[in-house]
Amino acid sequence: MGLFEGKKGIVLGIANDHSIAWAITQQLFAEGAEIGFTHLPDKDPARPKNENKVRKLVDPHGAKFVIPCDVTSDEQLDTVFEKTEQEFGKIDFVLHSIAFAPPADLTGPVYRCSRDGFKLAMEISVYSLIAMAGRAQGLLNEGGSMLTLSYLGGERVIPGYNLMGLCKSALESAVGYLASEFGPEGKRVNAVSAGPVKTVSASGVGDIKKMFQLYETFSPMRRNITAEEVGKSSMFLLSDYASGITGEVLHVDAGYHCVAAPPLDAFDE
Ligand code: NAD
Repeated sequence: MGLFEGKKGIVLGIANDHSIAWAITQQLFAEGAEIGFTHLPDKDPARPKNENKVRKLVDPHGAKFVIPCDVTSDEQLDTVFEKTEQEFGKIDFVLHSIAFAPPADLTGPVYRCSRDGFKLAMEISVYSLIAMAGRAQGLLNEGGSMLTLSYLGGERVIPGYNLMGLCKSALESAVGYLASEFGPEGKRVNAVSAGPVKTVSASGVGDIKKMFQLYETFSPMRRNITAEEVGKSSMFLLSDYASGITGEVLHVDAGYHCVAAPPLDAFDE
């Protein structure tokens, strides 16, 4: 019997088959989970590109629903959680795999970032987790959990990560506070801090090719991680196998986070 047999939940953050949320979803489906999904609203309802991309992936697995949600809208978030309650009653997991910063504010130095760009990046990448937690809190079963995705650039300076580093710092702080607030009810909140994975979001942050080289050269395992590895570790944190783990930021990054200096042979003449 699968680890998620009889478990129900929602996934926010699939854009396409490269999305980390899709890698996690595949593991959840494989373990028997029943899942509802959202997609970024389509500008032209006659050409539902975003919806179709998500449906193509999840419908063959028996997705319970696929509805639009822009996390900057309280009304749309309310609709998602109303639909979730209608469909499932109580739930066991919520996956938040969402981030955004306006390219002009993300690619420049932090000191050039605009007030509006900062607000939007924080709203979509951090506040959305809080907004979802407020709505999920009453719906989660005891033992249920939330998971979000972070990156090492929130703990330390990673060149090119810029404004998103500030967002991930705040996100990881929110994970701790939410975990302490959910804990007394037996509900958990965690993050996976993933190494670089080729996705639409990743292509907007720094030079992704060089990031891959960095991990290949300096991480203890001398390689990059796969989306499947992020999927498996994330599924573990959402599962009952992680019932004693909350407020955690689990690094799935071939060990890169523990390294303070490059291998000394990097300085060989
Ligand atoms: P992705 O582009 O596939 O996913 C980002 C998702 O955010 C998309 O589905 C997009 O539609 C959604 N989104 C953006 N603005 C939104 C809004 N206003 N309302 C609703 N949804 C919105 O890229 P990804 O790499 O899978 O990113 C998922 C998460 O993983 C992000 O938090 C990202 O920071 C994090 N992460 C990614 C990497 C990486 O290297 N790819 C590494 C560590 C952490």
